[in-house]
Amino acid sequence: MAVTGRFAPSPSGRIHLGNILCCLLSWLSARQKGGRVILRIEDLDTARCPRRYGEQMIRDIRWLGLDWDEGPERGGPGGPYAQSLRTELYQAALERLEAQGLVYPCFCTRAELHAASAPHREDGQVIYPGTCRDLTEEQAAERACRSGRPPALRLRVPAGVIIGFTDGHMGPYSEDLARDCGDFLLRRSDGMFAYQLAVVVDDAAMGVTEVVRGADLLSSTPRQLLLYRLLGLKEPAFCHFPLLLDSGGRRLSKRNADAGLDTLGERYTAPEILGKLAYLAGFNPSAEPRTGESLLADFDWEKVPREDIRIPEGLF
Ligand code: GLU
Repeated sequence: MAVTGRFAPSPSGRIHLGNILCCLLSWLSARQKGGRVILRIEDLDTARCPRRYGEQMIRDIRWLGLDWDEGPERGGPGGPYAQSLRTELYQAALERLEAQGLVYPCFCTRAELHAASAPHREDGQVIYPGTCRDLTEEQAAERACRSGRPPALRLRVPAGVIIGFTDGHMGPYSEDLARDCGDFLLRRSDGMFAYQLAVVVDDAAMGVTEVVRGADLLSSTPRQLLLYRLLGLKEPAFCHFPLLLDSGGRRLSKRNADAGLDTLGERYTAPEILGKLAYLAGFNPSAEPRTGESLLADFDWEKVPREDIRIPEGLF
């Protein structure tokens, strides 16, 4: 079967090492199988992801020498390739779920949801306890009046359904969604569609067959698989790769200013950055410079670690 991979960054800042690794692995994994690559800008949150950041991200990916067959500036049958321009598709999917009686309004405030007394799972994520699930019309009207803002919308997650899959890199993973996550958001109270819904609608509409992304999203996958099933869409294969940690063992974030391309791009060429990342990810024998193209011969998921990867002091 022809492979279609994709890279779907959220441009909330300059591209950083974590995004670059994701871009490199999704590109290599698809290209090595003779597959196509799609670039999609995940700027659902337009306040955090202004257009100029998306444009910068596109320039940065080009600078890295990683190309795409469909996406911004190239076009293609699955466009537009920015989530901010795809709201109608998310609305249509929401309506299909509504027609199945699976959507309900939620009036809970942030403070209520994140209260210390709220149920949490081991990784710290809040489990929605179903507060607004079975409100009578009167109760809903009363809560609407008290909250004074439009409700968020949640998916009614079926009880006792375990959603499992075999990740192409991390192996089997499953969740009992009702117990481990609860009814999850489809649209926020400010009208913004949830990532979980948008990513499923987009990957399916664009014919993506292989999703490569960081292990921080492994636990989102069962929610997405449930949506694929409820919407009758074809599921892609998933490959989650380990996260990069700074030399102190903390997850890379915007705090690590030197992990962004604004700093890296001044110090290194694109092949130098890709070569070091490929070395960390186990498929460049040394940290010497490499282009994406030259790494096609060496890339192998089996060489990529499954544990988080610590970036040694002085490598970048
Ligand atoms: N847009 C997400 C991010 O940048 C990635 C979504 C995905 O790959 O499913 O973290």
